[in-house]
Amino acid sequence: MRPRDPSFGLCGSCRYRREVIGRLGATYLLCRRSESDSNYPKYPRLPLLRCAGYEEGEGEEPESPET
Ligand code: SF4
Repeated sequence: MRPRDPSFGLCGSCRYRREVIGRLGATYLLCRRSESDSNYPKYPRLPLLRCAGYEEGEGEEPESPET
């Protein structure tokens, strides 16, 4: 398991995070709450310091590049 990246802020320890590795190797954080609630951005601006939807958890590890 990878250590949580402090530059992610609150999202880094949220169960709704999903890390995605882009084609150029950059890591993006996707908020899975955005899939069912439009109040949450798909790609939150990081570091996020406050979020009403935050729930502590492991989230999902990086996925392969998006197509
Ligand atoms: S619910 Fe909030 S804290 Fe959690 S991943 Fe989404 S934007 Fe980040």
